[in-house]
Amino acid sequence: MIAIFTSDDVGGARTPESVEAFERVAAWLESRGLGGTFFWIPRPGGEPGDQDPVWPPVMRAAEARGHDFQLHGLTHGSCLEFGLTQESTRPSNPGPFEEYERHRDRWEREHSVPSLTGKLTEGIAIYQRVFGRRPVVFRSPCFGMCPNAYAALHAVGLTHSSSRGLNPTATAYTLTKDPAYRRWAPDYPCHPWVEPPGVTEYGCFEDLTIGGVPEGELEDRVDLYLSELGHFLEESTPDSVLVLGTHFSAMVATWDRTRVLFDRVLDWLAAQGIEEWQTFRAFVGEA
Ligand SMILES: [Zn+2]
Repeated sequence: MIAIFTSDDVGGARTPESVEAFERVAAWLESRGLGGTFFWIPRPGGEPGDQDPVWPPVMRAAEARGHDFQLHGLTHGSCLEFGLTQESTRPSNPGPFEEYERHRDRWEREHSVPSLTGKLTEGIAIYQRVFGRRPVVFRSPCFGMCPNAYAALHAVGLTHSSSRGLNPTATAYTLTKDPAYRRWAPDYPCHPWVEPPGVTEYGCFEDLTIGGVPEGELEDRVDLYLSELGHFLEESTPDSVLVLGTHFSAMVATWDRTRVLFDRVLDWLAAQGIEEWQTFRAFVGEA
């Protein structure tokens, strides 16, 4: 089975700290001999990413070392930018649901096919100005997605998406510590599927380090990863792809423990025969 290491929110903060966090994770991936796929926000805070003096040179240098950058929303100003978040994220992140109910008319307008097509067209244009080619995979902010977003992706020729979380229930456990959420209750199948009108969706293995790995929780978190991955492997099919989701800033916030955790997770996966890591671009090709 091919595995893809992904990490989100590159470009979101134009600060030395954010670049330093990115470089640490990139260097760690390189030390393990693999290239990461980083989802980049093309217009964070309304500022076009091609006019950003900070990230484009960092990203081009990382590309030359084997990393990959793909499209992550447009502004990422709201988790609702491309659709409503998954119901299973409500316990740990109720804000988007409250916002959606409060301003439903506005969000329904934003989630029309023309509106979403416009957002994607703008994001792709900015991406092209930075990278000199089109993105091949899309990830929505916070896995907020809707049927019209798939229609818009198809309309702009982006036919690969990794915008759904497999088991956000387990993520809720890591954030709330409520043991009721420490369970395998996947929202989606453990293999890619096609969303109408023809976008292949690669569900993302949940980011169980999005809140860092607090002191004293390393062993529990390793155990949770191996348990969740064990379920994933049991339910995998010959066309399954393991897409690991992370956020590089959160990883580095507790780096001494998070690095140990991912070293152990990758070692365990290798022992299960999962040793072939690719970038998303290499995996889907220049669609
Ligand atoms: Zn994000």
